[in-house]
Amino acid sequence: MNAEYTVPTWEAGVKQLAPNIYAYIQAKATWYWSNAGFIVGKDYVVVVDSLATVGLTQKFKDEIRKVTDKPIRFLINTHHHGDHTWGNHVFPGASIISHNLCRHELIATGVMDTGLLNTVFPDLDFTGAAVTPSHITIEKELTLHIDDQEAKLIHFGQGHTIDDLIVYLPREDIIFTGDLIFLYSMPLAMEGSFAGWIKNMGLMTELGAKTYVPGHGPVCDKEGLKECLDYLVLVQKEARKRFDKGMTTDEAAKDIDLGHYKKWANPERILANIERLWREFRGEDPATSKLDVVDVFFRMATFATGI
Ligand SMILES: [Zn+2]
Repeated sequence: MNAEYTVPTWEAGVKQLAPNIYAYIQAKATWYWSNAGFIVGKDYVVVVDSLATVGLTQKFKDEIRKVTDKPIRFLINTHHHGDHTWGNHVFPGASIISHNLCRHELIATGVMDTGLLNTVFPDLDFTGAAVTPSHITIEKELTLHIDDQEAKLIHFGQGHTIDDLIVYLPREDIIFTGDLIFLYSMPLAMEGSFAGWIKNMGLMTELGAKTYVPGHGPVCDKEGLKECLDYLVLVQKEARKRFDKGMTTDEAAKDIDLGHYKKWANPERILANIERLWREFRGEDPATSKLDVVDVFFRMATFATGI
């Protein structure tokens, strides 16, 4: 590992990316600290993702209100994970748009035990986190016309999860990537596909955007996308060697040298990623071969204490 490598810090809060386009960035990229964004049209606002808790989402909404008092008409969920959806109800009256599998997964998985979450993540209060499924679902692509601006919602296929969407603004060359990009916290493919995610990164690159708003971490350019992609390629390659040798998932997770990525937040996610990869190498579909999330979380917590 490059001993000189340090993870940078970055500014949190609202970041204006274009005259009417804003990212909402958290100072941390770790569990449940996710980014969001909003687009201000002539008559209404489109929000990209809610946050994990009512408090975090309310603070985000307060920041939107400092920019505009126009009604929030649409809320896009980039995928079903709680840190992008559990605050949906803080935007009552907004029509929620997601991939059809996002709606399905959100209803199926529900909210985790909030008491347990409050214990494990004491800097957050999950009380009131709720499932509010989307009203409008898409399968591949949908274009929102915000005045004369296009926001293209695109599903590339299985990646971080089975239901990821990106929000691509072609005129401004900006993409809200959801969790297809993690920067400075370990990418997590527990419910997705490494092969699919790597392919999706190529498809996203082909769109030629200049600015990416990751699901976790600071706003970046194509170098940020490459950092995340390189992690996926490294882990997939190293995992395959160990799968072929017959290692267990725990053995492989401990054995892989993550290089500078070891300094990113949540290195314990390697364990969940290896669990997914073992299933993937056996040819199992993430839509039907789900991990026991609670079990993997506990094993990751144990793993983290040994890092
Ligand atoms: Zn996610």
